Amino acid sequence: MSFERLHAILGAIEPHYQSSERQQLQRILEIWHEIVNDAIADHAQPTAIQRNILEVATESPVWTQTLVFERPRLLKKIRERLAIDLSDVRFSTVQWRPQTAETPVESDPWQSHPSRIPEQSSEVQTQLALFSNAKSSFDRWSSIVQSRAQHLPLCPECGSPTPPGELDRWSVCAICAAKC
Ligand SMILES: [Zn+2]
Repeated sequence: MSFERLHAILGAIEPHYQSSERQQLQRILEIWHEIVNDAIADHAQPTAIQRNILEVATESPVWTQTLVFERPRLLKKIRERLAIDLSDVRFSTVQWRPQTAETPVESDPWQSHPSRIPEQSSEVQTQLALFSNAKSSFDRWSSIVQSRAQHLPLCPECGSPTPPGELDRWSVCAICAAKC
């Protein structure tokens, strides 16, 4: 048999084989809430069938434990309801994706910015928010910055008080780093 012919045959078989496992998964997903109860279905979702093994993503190890006990009942139900004879079910928290529709919270780039001084920033923000008068805000802000600056390490290049994050990243302050 030529390689071309072999490839043609494998090409014809493989998509069919894959789609059949995908179809099986689809059928299981359609009645998943009936196979397990609603409480469990919110914390465990089938993600794939591979080599006749159903893979189920679970929210946490606790739900994995719960479902491990349910495994024989699960396999029996799937066999009876859908005539799919799976050899096993495997649970994993790795594939878990929250089912809720809420949009993911944008991570704030400032939180990981090297010029950010950890922990104190939000406190200063709160203090600033308390001042309605712009002038006193500025005076207050200056004194906060000055008092905080006294506790900061100094840039080895220019001697200015420097956020530790800047020294971690560049070994000098952001201004000196920009000059290099
Ligand atoms: Zn410097």
